[in-house]
Amino acid sequence: MQPFLTVRGVERRFDKTLALQATDLDVAENDFITILGPSGCGKSTLLRIVAGLDHQTAGEVLLEGQRIDGPGADRGVVFQSYTLFPWLTVRDNVCFGLVERGLPRAQQLEIADAFLNKVGLRGFEHHFPKQLSGGMQQRVAIARALANGPRMLLMDEPFGALDHQTRELMQELLLGIWEQERKTVLFVTHDIDEAVFMGSRVVVMSARPGRIKLDRRVDIPHPRHYSVKTTPAFAELKAELTEQVRVEVRAAAAMV
Ligand code: ADP
Repeated sequence: MQPFLTVRGVERRFDKTLALQATDLDVAENDFITILGPSGCGKSTLLRIVAGLDHQTAGEVLLEGQRIDGPGADRGVVFQSYTLFPWLTVRDNVCFGLVERGLPRAQQLEIADAFLNKVGLRGFEHHFPKQLSGGMQQRVAIARALANGPRMLLMDEPFGALDHQTRELMQELLLGIWEQERKTVLFVTHDIDEAVFMGSRVVVMSARPGRIKLDRRVDIPHPRHYSVKTTPAFAELKAELTEQVRVEVRAAAAMV
């Protein structure tokens, strides 16, 4: 069967810098792939290429057999930095893509409010982004991405700017949503705990030029409760990944 997403032989060169090298990744529909690797190894570049915001200089990326050559409503993107429109209310931020698609206002509001409810922001529809905490702003960004009905979510360190406790709550929230909605997710993180807790598969990228050097399935059943972090299976996988990431971080440090 054809994979949902195919990344084959993808390279990305920026002038003299080879950011990604011969990267292959097959992703099944509904998989939650977490991506680990040292800074500068090309994780964001890979995500941006799948999002259609950047283009590979070699290789191909196919979504259900169709070549990706630009952004599309089938892929929702959430970045680390807060990307909400400051002049729009929470609700209108979530409605943004729905307005562009020309949906009737009543339907826009119904969809927006349903997703705001899902991310626990009922009652904040009329607030502006600056009135919200960082965690709440990221919840709006997730609601906005989901409201457009994407097949895939592409998330680049979405919780990277949050404090530890908020981050843990956001992990549970997103995993809960994924367990219901079963979107296909590519999720870049530096946090090995987060990668194992969230992922159905964890991939580790090598130091630049990045390529995928390790690919592990996470055999921890769903729904996952936070307590899985204390189980031997979790600790064992985390230890292996920590070692693999450390090797690459050392290699990246030796390069500069
Ligand atoms: P990561 O997300 O793993 O930290 P990136 O994908 O952001 O890594 O970057 C990979 C490499 O490509 C880095 O060396 C970075 O400096 C380089 N790079 C990324 N974007 C650009 C760009 N627009 N122009 C030049 N170099 C870039």
